[in-house]
Amino acid sequence: MATCYVLFGSNLGDKETIFTQACLLINNRCGAIRDVSAAYESEPWGFETKEWFLNRVIVLETDLVPEDLLDALLQIEAELGRVRYPDVKGYASRTADLDILYYDDRVIRTKRLVVPHLRLHLRRFALMPMCKVAPELVHPVLHMTQLELLRHCPDNSFVREICYQSNEKQ
Ligand code: ADP
Ligand code: MG
Repeated sequence: MATCYVLFGSNLGDKETIFTQACLLINNRCGAIRDVSAAYESEPWGFETKEWFLNRVIVLETDLVPEDLLDALLQIEAELGRVRYPDVKGYASRTADLDILYYDDRVIRTKRLVVPHLRLHLRRFALMPMCKVAPELVHPVLHMTQLELLRHCPDNSFVREICYQSNEKQ
């Protein structure tokens, strides 16, 4: 059984509902969700768009090997309506992006999968929710905790925790 940290990102459609659906599918197919971070609203990173992102980290316990987990997450992205545009170079708006940030303390570098995620330490929208669920978790390559990575992160794009009212979704 492995503990994984999966980053959800969405900037299209009803983002909270898509997150809930993603969690249901992950629970059914990938393993048990142990925790989810608070929700964060973040400025688009690496491309221009009016729609800001919802980001949350999911803490997952899984029996799937990393490549199978990736396949399952890509399938869930597709079912939640993500369209990949072969003509668009770089980033594009998406209904659901599910990235594996960490898989235990494994270091994986294959053609299809790099874990820990290659740009995790460069992105405030990944580090802020990570700091919420596992502030002391050590990056197995950079040997820094999530709090240290955030302190050293060169990204100064806008990321803020969303405070839901008590009658709204948590
Ligand atoms: P991004 O998440 O950087 O915006 P995509 O979601 O379009 O990019 O992912 C493109 C490819 O990245 C996936 O098809 C997958 O093979 C590859 N990839 C490499 N490492 C990871 C990872 N840790 N988590 C998810 N996808 C990954
Ligand atoms: Mg992705």
